[in-house]
Amino acid sequence: MKYKRILLKLSGEALMGDKNYGIDPNRLQQYTAEIKKVKDMGVEIAIVIGGGNIFRGVQAEKSGIDRVQGDYMGMLATLINAMALQSALEQAGLYTRLMSGIKVESVCEPFIRRRAIRHLEKGRIVIFGAGIGNPYFTTDSTASLRAIEIEADVVLKGTRVDGVYTADPEKDKSATKYQTISFHEVYEKNLNVMDMTAFTLCQENNLPIIVFDMNKAGNLSKLVEGEKVGTLITS
Ligand code: UDP
Repeated sequence: MKYKRILLKLSGEALMGDKNYGIDPNRLQQYTAEIKKVKDMGVEIAIVIGGGNIFRGVQAEKSGIDRVQGDYMGMLATLINAMALQSALEQAGLYTRLMSGIKVESVCEPFIRRRAIRHLEKGRIVIFGAGIGNPYFTTDSTASLRAIEIEADVVLKGTRVDGVYTADPEKDKSATKYQTISFHEVYEKNLNVMDMTAFTLCQENNLPIIVFDMNKAGNLSKLVEGEKVGTLITS
């Protein structure tokens, strides 16, 4: 196995599946099956999930909601997704812990680094909800930060595109995919991988990122075994 401890980042939008809003139970089942496969291989798994399928602070600002208030609403949205994922994983017989960036004591534990690592060592899947717990950040930044804190081997960014392309493949048919690319080249070519805060954190801490298609069955386990799936970004 190439990676022993992974940080899987899933966007909130991915959970919508074919719906326009909210959580698609089929998509949740599909992700659960993929995660279970990797867990059964003995990999330690931490997950950060977004909230874009429910609420985003930046968008809320446009409709007159205070930005900071909107960001906290976004963080709560990620918690809703995290709770849904936790429930699906547990129904599949997996052991999980949900840790939150903001205090929601009746629902889950607060994020405590040492505790998160202990959960992973004990074989529990740790889900980080509510982002970092501060406004003006994203769940991509949360993924980078938490991955560094828990000493994950890699950030796996599961998207609906199968890697990093020379241009947006949904708009430009001539776009080609990179198998590997350096952090520096991503900057230079102004490619859209993650927001800059998230990206810089990975670069400065030498933490590789793999962007891959999470909707294709088997991709996650292939990646963990070291197969070339998606795009690998390294120093
Ligand atoms: N958010 C935040 N701080 C964080 C993480 C998230 O303020 O540390 C808020 C922010 O408003 C963001 C929303 O939560 O727009 C949902 O997260 P994100 O947009 O990253 O979700 P995704 O795009 O991955 O679905």
